[in-house]
Amino acid sequence: MIARLADVRVPWDVLVIGGGATGLGAAVDAAERGYRTVLLERGDFASATSSRSTKLIHGGVRYLRQGNLGLVRESLRERERLLRNAPHLVRSLPFVLPTYRPGERAFYGAGLWIYDKLAGRSSLVGTSLLSPQETRERLPTLRADNLRGGVLYHDAQFDDARLAVSLAQTFVAHGGVALNYFPVVALRKENGRVRGVLARDTESAGEYEIAARVVINATGIFSDEVRRLDEPKSRALLTYSQGAHVVLPRAFLPGDTALLVPRTDDGRVLFAIPWFGRVLLGTTDTPIDRPLENPRPLSLEVDYLLEHAARYLVRPPSRADILSCFAGVRPLLRGKEGQTSQLARDFAVKVAASGLVTVAGGKWTTYRAMGEAAVGTAARVGGLPSRACATHELPLRDARPQLDSLLSNEPSLREILHPRLPYCLGDVACAIRFEQARTVEDVLSRRTRALILDAAASIEAAPRVAALLARELGRDAAWECAQATAFTTLARGYLPS
Ligand SMILES: Cc1cc2nc3c(=O)[nH]c(=O)nc-3n(C[C@H](O)[C@H](O)[C@H](O)COP(=O)(O)OP(=O)(O)OC[C@H]3O[C@@H](n4cnc5c(N)ncnc54)[C@H](O)[C@@H]3O)c2cc1C
Repeated sequence: MIARLADVRVPWDVLVIGGGATGLGAAVDAAERGYRTVLLERGDFASATSSRSTKLIHGGVRYLRQGNLGLVRESLRERERLLRNAPHLVRSLPFVLPTYRPGERAFYGAGLWIYDKLAGRSSLVGTSLLSPQETRERLPTLRADNLRGGVLYHDAQFDDARLAVSLAQTFVAHGGVALNYFPVVALRKENGRVRGVLARDTESAGEYEIAARVVINATGIFSDEVRRLDEPKSRALLTYSQGAHVVLPRAFLPGDTALLVPRTDDGRVLFAIPWFGRVLLGTTDTPIDRPLENPRPLSLEVDYLLEHAARYLVRPPSRADILSCFAGVRPLLRGKEGQTSQLARDFAVKVAASGLVTVAGGKWTTYRAMGEAAVGTAARVGGLPSRACATHELPLRDARPQLDSLLSNEPSLREILHPRLPYCLGDVACAIRFEQARTVEDVLSRRTRALILDAAASIEAAPRVAALLARELGRDAAWECAQATAFTTLARGYLPS
């Protein structure tokens, strides 16, 4: 990838800064339209917000309650596309909303019926009302006192960091160049117009001048930071809110149905979701004043999640039950003061006087629509030939097609990584050889989801992963040891204090 980046005599058509959902979506869109495109990510792909979501591809029951029907409809359309284009990573998930007061079942049933209608012709099963007994059959660990029934509906669930890998691979397969650990440190201008960037290769410390006809800033919560490389005094486009999750053993919610709590004390919705043999509980909404690179769940957030779960589950979960906890920061638009071009949606595409195109806000579910809007604008700004978006029906690359042949050629890679984790050494080797994993954290946090599934087990697995990485990447013993230590320090923060 670095060789391809360096071996270019004419400017790239499109340069995307940021390798989260938004940047990868824009990069795939640009490459698919036939533009020569490069994407640079400061850390690992999806290492910021895009690996820390609740892992739902959804219209947003919350937006439905706010009456933002246009947004719900657009998200549901994208949900359908993702179910079709990435069936290996996005799947239907049944949810039950339990009801305890008279009239609640009809009220929420009507709301979710509208949700179904907004989805149009959807492949997902429609909403239905459940008796108390049917509700308990779906959610056997639900508290039954005063239970009046429930509403069953369907939405979609995915693996966020793996979808990011799948997008990166799709992008590369369509001729793109994607580099992780490659921060953009400055923008390059000619006559006041952005014409490229200065980027650094973190591993070699080498610096690269990269010329491009148009630059897209897709850096999520860091968007204002990059905008200020362009205009140091530009007004903030974003505000920030942290959301925390805790991960519990499957016994708290056996079966394949998720639980939706429609209204928490602070008026939010709360999910308990089966995910890779564990239960994901989230999320919170804690305003914060600046973007954080490594957000950690606050003790108060963990208490809030456990307390709400305890109101619904027969056995109240405690801190001792937590396998892992993690947090992410939402990039939220400030509103009209930013003079954006797409205010009807929850994301914005903004063009600076220099031609820098910033795309921010939104959610994972709408990453493709965001990419489409950003690249449409970027093509105009960069004077690129007009070409239609072609991602609506674009299948995304399958995860790990190489694994089977790897395991038959190298049987030693069949060995399991850790008794409490659903991975073998072959998964680690695939991550290193085919998915640009460069660190123990890349492997255990995002190529596999070991850190989220069981933080303590991931710490125990770290030395083996470090050894395999060192062997595959030709690193020495000191590097191997430093990698295992750095991961252990990070992963301890995923255990409740
Ligand atoms: C708690 C929580 C739960 C959520 N749940 C859901 C959900 O269930 N469903 C859903 O659809 N959405 C959900 N979302 C929203 C969704 O996760 C985000 O909207 C999405 O991940 C944002 O992606 P992004 O690419 O814009 O930002 P990011 O993922 O933050 O990516 C930006 C990238 O830019 C990189 N970068 C920054 N500066 C530079 C630089 N100078 N050079 C190079 N790279 C740089 C960063 O390293 C980062 O990787 C949730 C969000 C949160 C916080």
